[in-house]
Amino acid sequence: MRPAHASRPARPLVIIGWDGATPELVKPWMADGTLPHLAQLAKRGAWSPLRSLLHPLSPAAWTSAFTGLNPGRHGIWDFGQLKPGTYEVAHTDASMRHGATLWDIAEDCGLRSVVMNVPLSHPAPKPSRGVFVPGLGADSLEDACWPRNLAGLIESETPGYAIDVNSYEHADPSEFLAALHQMVESRGVVAEALLRRERPDLFVCTFVATDRVQHAFWQQAALPTGDGSQLGWKFADAIKDVYVQLDAILGRLIHAAGPDAAVLVVSDHGFGDLQGDIYLNSVLEEMGLLDVWRPAEAPRGLIGSIAERILGRLPSALRRRDPGFTEHVPRFGDIRWEGTRAYARGLFGQVSLNLRGREPVGQVEPGPEADALLSTISERLLALRTPDGREPLIDAVFRGGELYEGPMLEEAPDLIVVPKDFRWMTRAGREIGPKGELFGPAAVGHTGNHRMNGVLVGAGPGIRPSDDLPLQKLLDLTPTALALLGIEVPRRLDGRPMTDLLGCDVGWTDELPWREPTGDGADPERLARQLEGLGYIAR
Ligand SMILES: [Zn+2]
Repeated sequence: MRPAHASRPARPLVIIGWDGATPELVKPWMADGTLPHLAQLAKRGAWSPLRSLLHPLSPAAWTSAFTGLNPGRHGIWDFGQLKPGTYEVAHTDASMRHGATLWDIAEDCGLRSVVMNVPLSHPAPKPSRGVFVPGLGADSLEDACWPRNLAGLIESETPGYAIDVNSYEHADPSEFLAALHQMVESRGVVAEALLRRERPDLFVCTFVATDRVQHAFWQQAALPTGDGSQLGWKFADAIKDVYVQLDAILGRLIHAAGPDAAVLVVSDHGFGDLQGDIYLNSVLEEMGLLDVWRPAEAPRGLIGSIAERILGRLPSALRRRDPGFTEHVPRFGDIRWEGTRAYARGLFGQVSLNLRGREPVGQVEPGPEADALLSTISERLLALRTPDGREPLIDAVFRGGELYEGPMLEEAPDLIVVPKDFRWMTRAGREIGPKGELFGPAAVGHTGNHRMNGVLVGAGPGIRPSDDLPLQKLLDLTPTALALLGIEVPRRLDGRPMTDLLGCDVGWTDELPWREPTGDGADPERLARQLEGLGYIAR
């Protein structure tokens, strides 16, 4: 890679992530003055919906956004994925990522970065210049910030700086919202201080509060979409309040960045309502393709219950807090693999075959047998109806190879199942329902879920003003950012510069900057606790 061009347009380039910010809210709130700084940015530059990737989940989506690579190349699909050659779930983090991030490439080209709170960016190697603050995936700032003493500085300036806050950790909604606003405020203070003090070439900061509040309140809040069911309720503005707070911080960051800055606000996916959880393994069980140990089959009485306890089959603390899920429901670990030909695992809808040569006790021969079975499963899934029987439950079923490409493709789910508008979802840790039941209440009281289209708003040097920017793609963020930084865009990235948005020249290179996975990830137990808190996994 050649050094960044001296006459690069953006000085600095500022990328602000609003996790889960959705065009259905952003558009009306820009128009009615609720989000004045975002509206002003769009007016100076352009805005459009921003298409996420299937599945629109933070680990895969943010990783693709900041590498320009599809999951078939970077290898991050979900919060947890099976360790190759086992049925064991490993929690993902940046140590498992293949490929270089935007800030890795910027550093290779002699630029200085500040990177704050990007989900799954931890653990990060020590930058030779620049600053790193971890996001989701790190349990604490200690031993995760670069420089190391930054954790202490942040703590002393903004005591109680939180990496994440979840509704699940608070019984009282007002306590949750207070903690959420405190997290956002602290993040804003630190972000502004680092932007002013470090004078970076590239500044990236992600705020996750939009995602957290929308999961918790979507169907209770008063929204422009009309989804609110509790108008007049004291928390009716909970979602709007978070957007307003983020908009005020955006105003401060734009001011701190100065007049030569190019500013992009992006989200990794959009948002909408959530009707409930679906248990795809129950469908596979019904089809005779999955064999699972169910507690009812266990020996009864005192001895049996002691045996269950020893085997760890009794309900976890989570199940007590989550009344929709009873102790008679098996978990992923209860699947009997010798009798299983296909299984579902993870978030949103992922189905894999128990394939000979890939899984430890594979039951399906690769080739025509596997292919025919995948077709049969797809047909059955596409025939499913919502619980009221009124509409199809599944929008589409894709083969992994239809959506992704690259050497990590072999770790992709065999089938990517897209539930109707993402109004239903599968959930890690709750892959199997009570016998014969396909639907359950959404875990941890969530009433909102992700959608495919997030938002992109941008303005500044190198960005062409437009009032009708067409839909852009999240995968194109890194090549676009490289162009704004005056860095040649690697031709072998999966993403392409957003030519509708850019008003600057784009240079190209045949080189592909690369980092191999380091494998020295975060403490898996800590990470599991964090993901459980998000409602993303159950143990
Ligand atoms: Zn989310």
